[in-house]
Amino acid sequence: MAQKTDMATDTAAGDDTASPSGEPRPPFIEFTSVCQSYPEQDGSTTRVLDNVSFTVERRETICILGPSGCGKSTILRLVSGMHDRKVAMPTSGSVRIQGNEVTGPHDQVLTVFQKPVLKAWLDVRGNVLLPFKTGLWGEDVSPEEREKRADEVLEAVGLTEAKKLRPRQLSGGMMQRVSLAARLVLRPPILCLDEPFSALDPQTRHEMQVLTIELWKRFPCLALFVTHDVSEALSIADRIIVLSTRPATVINDLTIAEPKPRSENWIRSAEYRQLEERILTRLRQAASGGAHGRMEIDV
Ligand code: ADP
Repeated sequence: MAQKTDMATDTAAGDDTASPSGEPRPPFIEFTSVCQSYPEQDGSTTRVLDNVSFTVERRETICILGPSGCGKSTILRLVSGMHDRKVAMPTSGSVRIQGNEVTGPHDQVLTVFQKPVLKAWLDVRGNVLLPFKTGLWGEDVSPEEREKRADEVLEAVGLTEAKKLRPRQLSGGMMQRVSLAARLVLRPPILCLDEPFSALDPQTRHEMQVLTIELWKRFPCLALFVTHDVSEALSIADRIIVLSTRPATVINDLTIAEPKPRSENWIRSAEYRQLEERILTRLRQAASGGAHGRMEIDV
């Protein structure tokens, strides 16, 4: 069961580096020397994350970019506290959210997965309201406010007309919109997205990326977005944390200053091509063992 935390949720401002008393606030998310190993069938262990350290100070969209199998989802599980109960997580190091160590599920983080998890017997609106019925979140939100929020998020994801449809009547893109709406209705401080659009066709995927940027403006949160697609990261991220192949460590930390939504002109610019090439070069170097363990920070 998700734990209620006493973490500060009064984070409406875009920059949350100071508390009302002027004291510096701990980072939103802080990974300190995190190592993660998993047991293998033969009794050996495989190290997946190796000395991963980074902080996220502000509400922004962070893309965690790296090759398949390098440990990106593991990072999200460490943030959300959805640990594998048979494995100590993390193996060493610490993960803190607003100064509190994550030791299990808690109410600061919600996750959107690649495969939408919708209830077949509920319509779209019912699925969006469902998180309130679990009793884990939003107990302080009145019934009227819940209804209001449901209408608001359905409108924001473009599903007002589809609110009475059942999941089997929806396209993949529409299902993922419902998934997003069912998280945003709870106004989570942190939203983890685990390759949420990778199963969609290219056109729908592009539409979802554009929608995501609009949604974050309307419902600000810290979004941790996992992808292995460099162009996806460059279109939605304020910052890209690049991981090496397994055992993954942070090999690049890039702030993308270009305002969003990013124009076609920027996507065709020399600056874009340089950023793309820089990330791909680092990934290639890391894959061949050349850059492993050395981090580059660009701002
Ligand atoms: P990514 O998201 O980058 O594809 P994951 O974090 O899902 O990577 O997994 C990294 C590696 O760790 C994979 O080889 C996966 O099989 C392994 N792994 C993930 N979770 C577990 C677990 N609970 N037990 C054993 N191995 C795991």
